[in-house]
Amino acid sequence: MLACSVTLSRSAFSHNISLYRKLLGEKTKFAGIVKSNAYGHGLLETAGVVIEAGADLLGVNSLEEAVLLRKSFPKPTIMIMGSVPDLRPRLQELADSNFWVLVSRVEEMELLSQLSPAPKIHFKLDTGMSRLGESYLHWKEIATEIKNKKLPLAGLATHFASTEDFTEHSYSMFQLNRFQEGIELFRSFGFKDLICHCASSASAMLFPEARMDMVRVGISMYGLWPSLETKLSLSQMGKEFGMLRPALTWKTKIQHIQSLPSGAFVGYGSTYKTTYPTRLAVIPVGYYEGLDRKLSNHGYMLVHGERAKILGRICMNMTMIEITHIPDAKLNDEVIIIGRSGKEIITADDHALWTNTINYEVVTKILDRFPRTIVD
Ligand SMILES: *Cc1c(COP(=O)(O)O)cnc(C)c1O
Repeated sequence: MLACSVTLSRSAFSHNISLYRKLLGEKTKFAGIVKSNAYGHGLLETAGVVIEAGADLLGVNSLEEAVLLRKSFPKPTIMIMGSVPDLRPRLQELADSNFWVLVSRVEEMELLSQLSPAPKIHFKLDTGMSRLGESYLHWKEIATEIKNKKLPLAGLATHFASTEDFTEHSYSMFQLNRFQEGIELFRSFGFKDLICHCASSASAMLFPEARMDMVRVGISMYGLWPSLETKLSLSQMGKEFGMLRPALTWKTKIQHIQSLPSGAFVGYGSTYKTTYPTRLAVIPVGYYEGLDRKLSNHGYMLVHGERAKILGRICMNMTMIEITHIPDAKLNDEVIIIGRSGKEIITADDHALWTNTINYEVVTKILDRFPRTIVD
């Protein structure tokens, strides 16, 4: 028996994508971002569903992810958003006219443009994230160099630093203005038909001007909000987006049951001590499988539609939960780690709150080797 399984709801994906479609003009492309094993949801499984649901293209971080995707999906456009370290020896792998590569340096453009077929090249303009891309101080030189060397430029991109973190968006507006100035600058050098894009989930929801030619949507395609601040911003602006539907359910089964007397210690470090006769279930999922160790003595799972508290420390491959109040629970019964059971639900946001992180990290950490099964 595998330790756990992940199921993906096809209808949740198409529902979440349709919420964006309602906002987007006909000319704005929807890029479904499937980097990092599709935020833990499973790269190939998610890609298939997302293409079916009508995404125009797929976005990944690395060349490895793009190559893996291409083996299963010969047709769709795949955008590589991260940098390709050590580009020169791997150049041939990028010879695909349906690859879009976001670059930060002209020398990368020179290498890529020699390929046949050559991928489409988008230049990253850093507008305030201070990560990939080039600072506005150098945009003029870069535009001049690209023009003089007659390099093919297909698009311009930037990335917002803090739309998710605030309900006051002056920094994002500053970045947006700077990006628009960059676009104008490149146009003034004669670059035409540039595909310009900057918005991820939150910015695409909040700022109509940021949708431009394409939005790059990750977290909310999976049915998770980029942040609470994003929800608050929407309501402050008097806007509605609609209900997102989480696509992922993470579940396992009861592996062992023990009945403990009052006064028994549970787990490493003996950090939990029963104060009454306690029925305890062991599940075969621990921090190796992607469960945060900060959930030790903190947080719940679901059994038979009831909350089952995590007792003691999360182990490497196991976790103990309380089932005293669920007398029907027996060996091999289903345990929901993230998802719904009866009237109860535990979300990636609950995990994020319990472990002081963001939902992005919670789902991305689910170990990739468990099967991802698509359900309707
Ligand atoms: C991950 C990523 C996105 C998607 O962000 P979400 O907040 O998950 O929608 C968009 N653009 C870039 C460059 C990214 O790295």
